[in-house]
Amino acid sequence: MEFSSKLLENAVNEMSQLPGIGKRTALRLVLHLLRQPGQQTALLAESLQKMREEINFCKSCHNISDTQLCEICANPNRNEKIVCVVEDVRDVMAIENTSQYKGHYHVLGGKISPMDGIGPGELTIQSLVEKVKEGTVEELIFALSSTMEGDTTNFYIFKQIEEYDITTTTIARGISVGDELEYADEVTLGRSILHRVPFENSLKN
Ligand SMILES: [Zn+2]
Repeated sequence: MEFSSKLLENAVNEMSQLPGIGKRTALRLVLHLLRQPGQQTALLAESLQKMREEINFCKSCHNISDTQLCEICANPNRNEKIVCVVEDVRDVMAIENTSQYKGHYHVLGGKISPMDGIGPGELTIQSLVEKVKEGTVEELIFALSSTMEGDTTNFYIFKQIEEYDITTTTIARGISVGDELEYADEVTLGRSILHRVPFENSLKN
């Protein structure tokens, strides 16, 4: 791509670092910003920078939060004895949208994936095991997508907490195999969490 301006080229290069944004899309977005009042770009840049500098993770569940303890963990009406294990903030949002779940979450920050260099140490598994050790948790619900990485992660965690006296369940597989949780419709995802099954059952098939 030949640019008539170095400034334009730099902006396009930076924008195209984002996932799913190729050079052509980046150019379209940059040109769009140029047509908008300058204040629009300033607000965009400022909100991104502020988010990056001030973003915080809940010290209990590791969800993205503006406060030390997220709204879900801080809510006394939510059941802290049930903990739903998810990959990231998008899954929390998807399950919250179903209005079917009143427990807590634990956000792993990804799935075990040796191909991508993600081992258990890169995730918040240790903190989950500590939480189980403390004894308040009665049930862990595995709600990772049913991919090989999701299954590996579930199994790894299951082995770490097997010795403790808690129930482990996995969401019912109304969720198609290989589907990412965030794309499941609310009704299907809501039913999956209501009709969760003992985790051991899911190991047999
Ligand atoms: Zn939290």
